[in-house]
Amino acid sequence: MSVSYKELGLVNTRNMFAKAIKGGYAVPAYNFNNLEQLQAIIQASVETNSPVILQISKGARQYANATILRYMAMGAVGYAKELGKAIPITLHLDHGDSYELCVNCIESGFSSIMIDGSHLSFADNIILTKKVVDYAHKYDVSVEGELGVLAGIEDEVSSEHSHYTDPSEVQEFVKQTSVDSLAISIGTSHGAYKFKVKPGESVPPLRFDILTEVEKCLPGFPIVLHGASSVLPEYVSLINKYGGAMENAVGVPEEQLRKAAKSAVCKINVDSDGRLAFTAKVREYLAKDAEEFDPRKYLGFARSELVKMYKAKNENVMGSAGHGV
Ligand SMILES: [Zn+2]
Repeated sequence: MSVSYKELGLVNTRNMFAKAIKGGYAVPAYNFNNLEQLQAIIQASVETNSPVILQISKGARQYANATILRYMAMGAVGYAKELGKAIPITLHLDHGDSYELCVNCIESGFSSIMIDGSHLSFADNIILTKKVVDYAHKYDVSVEGELGVLAGIEDEVSSEHSHYTDPSEVQEFVKQTSVDSLAISIGTSHGAYKFKVKPGESVPPLRFDILTEVEKCLPGFPIVLHGASSVLPEYVSLINKYGGAMENAVGVPEEQLRKAAKSAVCKINVDSDGRLAFTAKVREYLAKDAEEFDPRKYLGFARSELVKMYKAKNENVMGSAGHGV
């Protein structure tokens, strides 16, 4: 049985992005796949009065189950209202890899989807993206395309080398496909090991020159940054302190993301930071209380930390706090 996202109380990204560009901030896109992550994202977004994009990868959808997800998204809308603010909430497919998956997600209540044809030739990327856009727009669902390839690993998406977006291609791509937003590659990377740097060395800066060129070619058009976790050192240290082994995990500095959020970048994706905070706090709790076996205790402990982290991101990195309703 097919359902429209509008029945679930969700919104597409069109209005969200228009406001974000005007306001000089980015809408956070947080990946989730379980109850506690979802609760934390909604609570943090309500408490900071921020719009939010709930992001699901193909793998997360398989993990959580598509039917359960539909009701989780509806529950998220109701939960926000119950907490006191009906903030705009989008349910977005991250890295859709086929036309069929995109159609399936639209039929099960997604309000926005990404079709990632970035590994294809420019011509084939246009053909696939346009096909998805033609279907999605019939249902008022927004579509994100991608040009350029990010290095790193994220669920099924992996690439050893990055391939920066070529600004001379963006105008043609957007014109031919009618996508609503465009993910570009300017040096961010998927996963928790974003840059090969030695301890103490600083990470290479993002390629703001490419971003500026893209903005010139597409004035006022919504740009998306993937692989934009900061891999917060406090969580990496906690993980390592309590039995983990994550050496040289490093991410994108928050000041650089803040700078990007003030430009045409109006969606910033964060997945790894949520995973790291969650794992760090579960490890800490279980290491300190070896007798505890009630999942509500250690998952609840991790959830509280997630709320804190997402609030800080909305306030200090995205700049989206205060722009909800
Ligand atoms: Zn991504």
